[in-house]
Amino acid sequence: MKQFEKSFTQQEAIPAQGIKDAVAILESGRIHRYNTGPGELAETSLLEQEYADYQRARFCLAVTSGGQAMQIALRAAGLRPGDKILANAYTLAPVPGAIHACGGVPVFVEIGQDWLTDITDLRAKAASSGAKFFMLSHMRGHIADMDAILAICEEFGITLVEDCAHTMGAKWQGKRSGNFGRVACFSTQTYKHMNSGEGGFLTTDDEELAARAVILSGSYMLYERHGAAPGDEVFRRIRLDTPNCSARLDNLRATILRAQLTQLDANCERWNARYQALEEGLRGRTGVEVVERLQCEAYVGSSFQFHARVPDIPALVAACGARGVELKWFGGAEPVAFTSRYDSWQYFGTVDPLPKTLETLATTVDLRVPLTFSVEDCSDIAEIIAEEAARLAA
Ligand SMILES: *Cc1c(COP(=O)(O)O)cnc(C)c1O
Repeated sequence: MKQFEKSFTQQEAIPAQGIKDAVAILESGRIHRYNTGPGELAETSLLEQEYADYQRARFCLAVTSGGQAMQIALRAAGLRPGDKILANAYTLAPVPGAIHACGGVPVFVEIGQDWLTDITDLRAKAASSGAKFFMLSHMRGHIADMDAILAICEEFGITLVEDCAHTMGAKWQGKRSGNFGRVACFSTQTYKHMNSGEGGFLTTDDEELAARAVILSGSYMLYERHGAAPGDEVFRRIRLDTPNCSARLDNLRATILRAQLTQLDANCERWNARYQALEEGLRGRTGVEVVERLQCEAYVGSSFQFHARVPDIPALVAACGARGVELKWFGGAEPVAFTSRYDSWQYFGTVDPLPKTLETLATTVDLRVPLTFSVEDCSDIAEIIAEEAARLAA
């Protein structure tokens, strides 16, 4: 019997250039983004310029985490304590955390069997709740029908905030994920598409939102040192009514991200080759249901989901685990290691049940696809899962 030996949490090394630049920053001692000489643009500001170019957004702000990017984006977009906000019920814990930190009141929207936002439920809840914000998580890289979502936002006057933690580099109908809403948030935490340990970005084309976000991130009124921020006149309008919440990225992490950005598109292709090996190995196998991706979606396959069609899913997770394949199951009653569900966020009080979401998550199994795995590794992983699923299928 095949046994898989590699770690599901081992990322690749930082590119040599990033290590060299990081050492130079350490030698200089100038790690703070505003610790610059006259006319000098800090590594963090250069990174903002480069990411804005990559994303094709007017403005970019680098911050300390994806969760901070979301909190800042929501505040800068005008969410106030007590405001309702639509949010998909399938997402990672920093998303409800950011909503809670801003005092937002979530109205959770169902997902379908394809993990995409349920458009009918979104429309119904937009109409019934009167919410003026929608925090859309492209969870695990699945991008819903953006035309339908934009039409609903337009009809009900809703500000769309995109959580692109799993769609950095992805596109929908040729347009980059993150360029559909008023503001987009990204994470550069170790398990995302670029790795600075912790970190994040916010991008927008809206100059007032961008200026507020810079002040919120803690600019100490040194905003003119940013790389992709609006002009002084925009800051003068808002700078005294926007608080400093200290979430600045530093030059050390910026150097290692700059070195990775040049490789991002190539890495997205490498992820997809691995994803497709998993897909091929699992498609049509007993006890496993693969959901086909949409043609209009240029996804980044940094993780893989399938529905387990076996009576005892914990037994499948355990059997694969024993053979070195680490699966996550979203159907468990208790959140474990990165899985969580809306009913784990009890700080919001009781929320209306979401039967479709629960039904989908009850059979949802997820695995990470680090780039330290080869394409052959992914075929081996698929074979192990398929063997165990066939054995356990009634
Ligand atoms: C990782 C992640 C975030 C942000 O996470 P941080 O750890 O705060 O950078 C946001 N949304 C989703 C869906 C994520 O997976």
